[in-house]
Amino acid sequence: MTLVVVTRVHNAAAAAGGMRRGLAYARAYANVRHVAGGPLASSPLHRATLGTLAVDAAGAFVLAGHAFALLGRVEVGADPEAAAELRIVAPLAKLATGRLAVSSASEYVESFGGAGYVEDTGVPRLLRDAQVLPIWEGTTNVLALDVLRALTREDAGAPLVSRLAAAVDLARPLSPVLADTLATAATQLAETISAVTLDPGAPTVLAGARGLALRLAYALTTALLVEHAGWGDEQAELAARLWARRWLRHEEIAEDAHHHLDLLC
Ligand SMILES: Cc1cc2nc3c(=O)[nH]c(=O)nc-3n(C[C@H](O)[C@H](O)[C@H](O)COP(=O)(O)OP(=O)(O)OC[C@H]3O[C@@H](n4cnc5c(N)ncnc54)[C@H](O)[C@@H]3O)c2cc1C
Repeated sequence: MTLVVVTRVHNAAAAAGGMRRGLAYARAYANVRHVAGGPLASSPLHRATLGTLAVDAAGAFVLAGHAFALLGRVEVGADPEAAAELRIVAPLAKLATGRLAVSSASEYVESFGGAGYVEDTGVPRLLRDAQVLPIWEGTTNVLALDVLRALTREDAGAPLVSRLAAAVDLARPLSPVLADTLATAATQLAETISAVTLDPGAPTVLAGARGLALRLAYALTTALLVEHAGWGDEQAELAARLWARRWLRHEEIAEDAHHHLDLLC
């Protein structure tokens, strides 16, 4: 189990790093590619696409970073609280970042147009390297079942629910809308965790395991971005607002992503 946790956390780091790499490639290309009489980098639509990808990259980065911070506390200090949280954060970070890495890599390939598909540009490798991330060390569904086991047999939801509640308080002075969004998600997740614990083997519970794990990961990511924002990190505050709108409220963020691309990157 120790080995699996370490490899899953490294997987999350590879996902987050690959997403930053794709973003850097795509931004550099947009600066030199001219379309419709101007640089691609000045197209509002392209900037919105890249800005949305930057929000996803910011989320993957804090999720992987948090998993590593917990792993460090476990390895160096034998910290039982960190170990309890890592039990659920490791599979959550791995499964959420693996999926984000693939969807992002596909967009980065597309952002190069035809050149993105041609092997000798090296760009297709972004997608090929990303695609292994949700497969090895446990596919998304295998990890979702692991999350369900952790929730129902090891009470692993408790540290997450506490972290979400603390982040709601931190978010309140930054943005009441963000705080309310996170509070709603936290309440719904706490209710779902209680419900699935009553009958973890029910087919409906098993069928919903992936959805529950992803919702937990998206809420946790919001909380982590809020924590970073609370330290005065302006980029994290913007990313927290946009991440919550995109992944908790399922809203379109194109206009803000275009407007704030430079700060997001
Ligand atoms: C490039 C690469 C390198 C690898 N290196 C190593 C290595 O060094 N060491 C090593 O040991 N392994 C290695 N693997 C193997 C890797 O860990 C497995 O491929 C991975 O865990 C998936 O298992 P599987 O291939 O048996 O697929 P399967 O388990 O057969 O998965 C097929 C499908 O079934 C689903 N599924 C499986 N179990 C369940 C379940 N209980 N409930 C619902 N759905 C389920 C999966 O989600 C998937 O969609 C490597 C794989 C790759 C691609």
